[in-house]
Amino acid sequence: MSDSKQSVGFPYNQGQTNDGWSNEDEATATCACGKVQMVIPLKAPGLQGTFVCHCTDCRKVSASMFATNFTSLDSHTRFVRGEDNLTVFSQSSTTTTGETMANSFCKTCGTLMFRAGTIAPGTRFMRGGIIDDHSLHDTMLKPKVEIFSEHRAAWVSPVEGAEQGKGMGPFVKDKKGDEKKEEGQGKL
Ligand SMILES: [Zn+2]
Ligand SMILES: [Zn+2]
Repeated sequence: MSDSKQSVGFPYNQGQTNDGWSNEDEATATCACGKVQMVIPLKAPGLQGTFVCHCTDCRKVSASMFATNFTSLDSHTRFVRGEDNLTVFSQSSTTTTGETMANSFCKTCGTLMFRAGTIAPGTRFMRGGIIDDHSLHDTMLKPKVEIFSEHRAAWVSPVEGAEQGKGMGPFVKDKKGDEKKEEGQGKL
């Protein structure tokens, strides 16, 4: 990993903090108030994949019509500050698999930093919108997969070139013989 922190001070408003950075290996992810900051990997194996999710849970927890996400290995993800400033909401009643999904929010500003599930121990489903270097959304972090695409709002277009998954799409392959329950109700 490189220690160099390039691009400190991006040419736009970073919110309440101005210490986001990126280099070719890693980038910062910061909540709206700046109290929680993480460093996430930009390359495999630390970066496992990028996806958009249109499920109901993602709409609710993101307070938006879909969520932009990427999967990172915990072993390659670290906190700069604020891990103790997270509050966690966990539930399993609406997940397709019945597995628990835990949502970690900044206690101060409410930003959802990541979700983590018993479905995938050792990984986090990070929220893309908290990455400080916006250019990464068009490069390394551009979504390659969409899941629960059957729930996509009619005015949202598919991401060009992204695999269109129904229900959990390619994620279901990672499950050991776990059958999808009612697709229409599915959530990740
Ligand atoms: Zn915050
Ligand atoms: Zn989802």
